[in-house]
Amino acid sequence: MTGESGKPGRNCPRCARLKAFRDEWRRHEPTWFNAPVPSFGPLTARLLIVGLAPGLQGANRTGRPFTGDYAGALLYDTLARYGFARGKYEAHPEDGLELIDARITNAVRCVPPQNKPTGTEIATCRAFLKPTIAEMPKLRAVVTLGRIAHDSVLAAFDQRAKVAAFGHGASHEIGKLRLFCSYHCSRLNTNTGVLTPEMFRKVFAAVRRYLDA
Ligand code: URA
Repeated sequence: MTGESGKPGRNCPRCARLKAFRDEWRRHEPTWFNAPVPSFGPLTARLLIVGLAPGLQGANRTGRPFTGDYAGALLYDTLARYGFARGKYEAHPEDGLELIDARITNAVRCVPPQNKPTGTEIATCRAFLKPTIAEMPKLRAVVTLGRIAHDSVLAAFDQRAKVAAFGHGASHEIGKLRLFCSYHCSRLNTNTGVLTPEMFRKVFAAVRRYLDA
């Protein structure tokens, strides 16, 4: 069933491949979350961070974006440094970590095989990204983690990718919002030095300056 309020239901059937993968993991690991991962953080936040999709043993296991994922350690540490998170991130959803003026979602809500959603899956799941954005009345800034999230956010605003080129550290005005681009904080990007913690922090420092101005 698909949720009626712009949220995917636990058994969302829209992407056959993702549903099959999810069903397979429900059989293998019945105690895992294994469902579309909901957004995390208050609706009243001024900042939305958009990731790619749940990691198999991270958000797909725990049910909270980036939680238990390698990428989560850097993301939550960075959010705390810039005042967007309070509490200790302990890689499970009951760790008491709170987001302050920030919310996290994913361009694709279900875990994709090999971390690679198809173009059709990304477009299909935009049906949930759009209302996620629309339900945030105070939204002023969006951080897109990686090109896929960036392009999907632009499409959610009915903008062509050309109007706001993706590049680490780039930012663009889209209507009343400012879009901040970052390379994804994935294990691959951090282990290969494509993204250093300093590069990642600079993005959130810029967001903090923008929101505080
Ligand atoms: N975990 C998520 O929830 N999203 C990502 O993009 C990566 C890991």
